[in-house]
Amino acid sequence: MRTPQEPSPTFLLTGRRALVTGAGSGIGRAIAVAYAAAGADLVLLSERDNLDEVAEAVRAHGATATCVRFDLADVAGRAGFVEALLDEHEVDVLVNNAGVIRRAPSETFPDHDWYDVIEVNTHAAFHLARAAGRRMLARDGGKIINIASVLSFQGGVFVPSYAASKHAIAGLTRALANEWAGRGVNVNAIAPGYVETAVTEGLREDRERRAEITARIPAGRWATPQDIVGPAVFLASAAADYVHGHILVVDGGWLCR
Ligand code: NAP
Repeated sequence: MRTPQEPSPTFLLTGRRALVTGAGSGIGRAIAVAYAAAGADLVLLSERDNLDEVAEAVRAHGATATCVRFDLADVAGRAGFVEALLDEHEVDVLVNNAGVIRRAPSETFPDHDWYDVIEVNTHAAFHLARAAGRRMLARDGGKIINIASVLSFQGGVFVPSYAASKHAIAGLTRALANEWAGRGVNVNAIAPGYVETAVTEGLREDRERRAEITARIPAGRWATPQDIVGPAVFLASAAADYVHGHILVVDGGWLCR
C-alpha cells in the first residue's frame, strides 16, 4: 500500500550539467538527448566535427549544449585539455562513453590496434574520471558513469584489446566507487550487449555472425541506443544515490544465457 508521506525518487536532472564523451553518435548521442529531456545542460565531446545535430536536439529540450572537439587518443595533449575543460565547465555528471574497437585474430593482432583501443577506452576514461572526480569530491557530489560492455565479463572473438579495455573499465568503476562512495560521488557502469551502432557495423555486415548473435540474445533482437538511456538517466539521478560500483548489464539477457 502507498504511504503518501514517502517521497518518490526523482529521475529528473534539473540543474545538473553533464559531460558526455562520444556524444556525436550512437549511445552517447542518445544519452545526451535523454539527459536534456530530463532537465540537464550538456557538454558534448567528440573527436570529429559531428555535434551540430545533437546540440540542436539537446537545445530543443530547452537545455544548453556546449560542443567540444578533441581527440581523446592525443596522449600528449589530453591531461591539459581535460583539466582546462573541467575548470571551464563544472560538471555534475560524467559519462565516459567514447570508445573504439578493432577486430583481428589475437595471434596476429597489430600493436597499434592494441594501443589505440586501450588509449581511448581505458586511459582517457581514467583521466576524465580522475579529473572530474577530484572536482566532484571537493563539491561533495557527482555521478560518474562508465560505458562498459558484456565484454567486461566475456572474451569476445577477435577483439582482445577491446575485451581487455572493457574489463579494465569494470575494475576502474569498482576501484573508484570503493574510494569515493563515502564522499558523495557515485561511480557506476553500464554494460550494453549488442547495440546497433557504428561499433558493431562490421559484425552486422557479416550476415552469418549477425544471425548467430541474434539467435543467442534471449530478447530476440539487438539493442538500439534508446535501450541504454533509461539506465543512464537512472544512474545520473538522485534515484541512484545509494548505488555504487555497480555494473548495470543492459543486454537483452545475453549474459544469463
Ligand atoms: P559509436 O557510435 O561509434 O560511438 C563511439 C563514440 O566514441 C563516437 O561518438 C566517437 O566519436 C567517440 N570516439 C571514438 N574515438 C574517439 C576519440 N579518439 N576521441 C574522442 N571521441 C572518440 O558507437 P557506440 O556503440 O555508440 O559506442 C559508445 C560506447 O558504447 C563505446 O564505449 C562502446 O565500446 C560501448 N559499447 C557499445 C556496444 C555496441 O554494441 N554498440 C556494446 C557495448 C559497449 P567520433 O564519431 O567523433 O569518432
